[in-house]
Amino acid sequence: MMHKLTKAPLALNGLGRCFITEKHVSAVKIIRRGLVVAQHESDSGKNEVYDVIISGGGMVGSAMACSLGMDPNLTGKKILLLEAGNKKVMDKVPNAYSTRVSSISPGSATLLSGIGAWEHITQMRCKPYKKMQVWDACSDALITFDKENLQDEMAYIVENDIVVAALTKQLDGLSDNVQVKYRSKVVKYTWPMPHQAADSIPWVQVTLANGETLQTKLLIGADGPNSMVRQKLGIPTVKWNYDQSAVVAVLHLSEPTENNVAWQRFLPTGPIAMLPLSDTESSLVWSTSHRLAEELLELDEESFVDAINSAFWNNENQSELIETAGSMFRGALSAIMPSAGSPRQLPPSVAGIGPKTRVMFPLGMGHASEYIRHRVALIGDAAHRVHPLAGQGANLGFGDVACLTQLLSQAAFNGKDLGAIQHLLEYETERQRHNLPMMAAIDLMKRLYSTNAAPVVLLRTFGLQATNMLPALKVSFLSPTAAAHLSEPDRRSDNISHLSDLSSTLHPLF
Ligand SMILES: Cc1cc2nc3c(=O)[nH]c(=O)nc-3n(C[C@H](O)[C@H](O)[C@H](O)COP(=O)(O)OP(=O)(O)OC[C@H]3O[C@@H](n4cnc5c(N)ncnc54)[C@H](O)[C@@H]3O)c2cc1C
Repeated sequence: MMHKLTKAPLALNGLGRCFITEKHVSAVKIIRRGLVVAQHESDSGKNEVYDVIISGGGMVGSAMACSLGMDPNLTGKKILLLEAGNKKVMDKVPNAYSTRVSSISPGSATLLSGIGAWEHITQMRCKPYKKMQVWDACSDALITFDKENLQDEMAYIVENDIVVAALTKQLDGLSDNVQVKYRSKVVKYTWPMPHQAADSIPWVQVTLANGETLQTKLLIGADGPNSMVRQKLGIPTVKWNYDQSAVVAVLHLSEPTENNVAWQRFLPTGPIAMLPLSDTESSLVWSTSHRLAEELLELDEESFVDAINSAFWNNENQSELIETAGSMFRGALSAIMPSAGSPRQLPPSVAGIGPKTRVMFPLGMGHASEYIRHRVALIGDAAHRVHPLAGQGANLGFGDVACLTQLLSQAAFNGKDLGAIQHLLEYETERQRHNLPMMAAIDLMKRLYSTNAAPVVLLRTFGLQATNMLPALKVSFLSPTAAAHLSEPDRRSDNISHLSDLSSTLHPLF
């Protein structure tokens, strides 16, 4: 049976692609992709056909599998998650913190809660924080967001392993709905022919390293920034490597503190962030030049700790001119609003690091110009990769999960083919509308703070001070965060204004 569209509901996605729809015709031609979308009713023979295969069981792919497995409209669908690595179970939470952590937004926590994983996360280990202070190493300008401006927690620091272990546990309980194959690396994809030939397979064919071949009506590529799905489809991707690497480590604080503040200081070489893990430990994410990152990895522990404390405390990048201009501007704002502005707090000092926790990651940005193809959708880092200065990568991925689940659920409810292009296009349009402004803002921030040129420093000093002292502006940056920060499962980014989108991006930045 061929698919029939009666009107043109497909929005242009802003990347200049055009779609042509015809009334009462038996096919939809997507001109730029040269595809004819057909709905196939019969399976193609001996191999088992899944309704959905998710390739990649990282944080985002595992969340996608849970989300689909828990959706009542998808009950009875054959869903499979493929992960190249081992199953990550965590019978007991290790005493030592892991180096890889993520700042999980309230919106993502809502999604994880809806799919039953948040409870496991909080039972294992997770640190909420209620305040964030961001400041510029080239001036005195700072901005603080605290609980007064927010209803609830600003975000949560969670180890990536814990997120995956919680999702794995949840998937164990969903084994009737979702099958999971670990140590199952996909080595080949065969795409359905745009025009079905007599002997062609109408589904995506997936070949595993052990030679097994599977078929699926919809393939979801969640296989990370070097996505094989994206590459094999030949999807054009805008990407570049930043001139920075991130050095991460677990930090031991000099003395116990309440430790519910996330700190980020913009150095001319890149941002350094200290994220709370417990009363005595924090996580370091220090983005800096590749050369300095390599040097930091080579330092003995004491010198490394000195370098961290110095990066947070020393004022060698400040100039008298900027200081004078900044304090005059601050004075003028104080005269208008004497009680405005948040007081400066001092970050805790660091006394040591966790053994073998120092690791370095080269940083880059990437965006697939198409998130979908015939019977394929990309989610998470497979579709978009961002600089960690905003702590947004996984959060954007969880937003993809929420959006795609909702559209697939609706399609299943309406008896539609899950791999049909219509709802996949909706997914792409919606998520690109959401992700692109965020990615642009993150990239802009990276560039804006990568210089100590006086005019730029002045501009950002005034901007930061004004934002910090104008509560309304600060609230407008923040209040939509919890709501907009990547959609609860039933929430669509259509409803979220661009200001909200941007504010949710900018909150972790400043
Ligand atoms: C230093 C740093 C700090 C960060 N901090 C934050 C933060 O605070 N907040 C935040 O939201 N984000 C943060 N991020 C980003 C975040 O880590 C990523 O966005 C997130 O991990 C992406 O998850 P993913 O599941 O899409 O991809 P990945 O984590 O890359 O997972 C992909 C999975 O696919 C599997 N796979 C790959 N190929 C195949 C194949 N052929 N067959 C089968 N399986 C395959 C892999 O084994 C892997 O498990 C940070 C990133 C960095 C580098």
